[in-house]
Amino acid sequence: MAENLLKMFIHGEWTEAASGETRNIVNPASGQFIAVAAEGGEEDANRAVAAAKSAFYQGGWWGTPAAERARLLFKAADLLESRKEEFARLETLNNGKPLREAEFDVNDTIACFRYYAGLATKPHGQSYEVSDPMQAVVVREPIGVCGQIIPWNYPLLMAAWKLAPALAAGNTVVFKPAEITPISAVELFGILEEAGFPPGVVNLVLGAGASVGQTLAAHDDVDKIAFTGGTDTGRKIMQAATGNLKKISLELGGKNPNIVFADADFEAAVEYALFAAYANSGQVCAAGSRLLVEESLYDRFIARLVERTMAIKVGPGLADGTEMGPLVSEAHLNKVLGYVEIGKAEGATLLCGGSRLTGGEYEGGFYMEPAIFTDCEPSMRIVREEIFGPVLVVQTFKNEEEAIAMANDTIYGLAGAVFTSNGAKAQRVIRKLRAGITWINTYHPTYNEAPWGGYKQSGIGRELGTFGFEEYTEVKQINTNLAVEPLGWYSS
Ligand code: NDP
Repeated sequence: MAENLLKMFIHGEWTEAASGETRNIVNPASGQFIAVAAEGGEEDANRAVAAAKSAFYQGGWWGTPAAERARLLFKAADLLESRKEEFARLETLNNGKPLREAEFDVNDTIACFRYYAGLATKPHGQSYEVSDPMQAVVVREPIGVCGQIIPWNYPLLMAAWKLAPALAAGNTVVFKPAEITPISAVELFGILEEAGFPPGVVNLVLGAGASVGQTLAAHDDVDKIAFTGGTDTGRKIMQAATGNLKKISLELGGKNPNIVFADADFEAAVEYALFAAYANSGQVCAAGSRLLVEESLYDRFIARLVERTMAIKVGPGLADGTEMGPLVSEAHLNKVLGYVEIGKAEGATLLCGGSRLTGGEYEGGFYMEPAIFTDCEPSMRIVREEIFGPVLVVQTFKNEEEAIAMANDTIYGLAGAVFTSNGAKAQRVIRKLRAGITWINTYHPTYNEAPWGGYKQSGIGRELGTFGFEEYTEVKQINTNLAVEPLGWYSS
């Protein structure tokens, strides 16, 4: 076993995989190996679930006072803050994103832990005025063992979105990061250990979705599964979860419309269109990957958009001045480049970008030029499918009604935005958008305080805010008789 092997954390102990298997972890900026991680499997997942179940019941975690859970989460946030530069670098190293994006993620992660630490001790539940002498109250209780599975696009932030609300609500967790981006999760679990979470309350299992993820989704002792990732994987998880009818929350894909009207602030709309499409190299579920531009603005807008897209500085995430990093893996890069070929074959016009970047600072890494397609028809695969890379497809519309119809012409319903200087029109359009996260004259801001999740095939349930907390609770009504005497229902 390598000295510096990235291990799993099960029942308060750092452990290698039962099989002894390992996986090489790659830096997407160079293609070089940067770490070796334990490659867990079904046996490790089963052991982690048993540890989480025992910590919840025998260990008494479910009865731990909210103030104690809050204290541990605040401590974790403080520890993370004391190492935030290191975490940002690790995130860039493993995921490839520019350092400034990783720094943002780390700050948001810290804030997420603090938000849920605070929420743990705030009032929950309800009381009802029912007929005398009865008293009815509703309390919220933890669900039990939560299996949590995340993707590779926000390895640290997605971990916080899963772990913080689940722990604040009093659950125990078995957490699985994406197999290719485990580094920041391993470090984060080191922090949870140092913060003092009791053994078995937080468990980390590394490994593949098909083994570890599937085991968690199907396990009878997992009471809830929370997943972020692709819609097809979400479907598999939902099917696997039917065995014990576990609670599920799914945050899936999107093909999100960004609607620009002719009366929008021109330069703001152009820059947000870039940010919507290319932040994190477009590997964002909420990316504004479908740009809908009002016909009368189209020529001027596209000319400026292409000019600015071609000026985006692609490079290693750790290099000064990098505005867009590599894609996360060679396999994913090839998938995205494959979509560029599909777009061309479908008859769309590639206005710029779309090629792999090689040589010099790109040598060995998984880089591509950001791409823009025009002349896109609604039936094209590049318009309908989530590409999850820096490929923007542009369509035009004639009026408000057509913009709304085009925006909603998708199986997804995660996010969407509208740019216009007409406030009433902005409200009208947003109210008609079938999506869970919407923006007016901005794109991408996310708040720990506000719910995150989608309509239609973009998911089930919500993360973040009080909505996200409630997803990790069961609801119990307690009815109390305040005047105890026989009911008198039976005659003898
Ligand atoms: P996946 O949905 O395959 O992966 C997300 C997580 O689910 C990973 O931890 C993965 O494990 C795990 N997983 C995979 N298969 C199963 C399974 N059968 N049961 C349980 N867990 C499983 O995303 P990919 O990384 O493969 O990306 C595929 C596409 O999904 C992307 O191109 C994009 O379109 C979309 N996507 C959407 C995201 C979003 O935020 N909405 C995020 C990431 C991807 P592992 O990878 O370790 O094997």
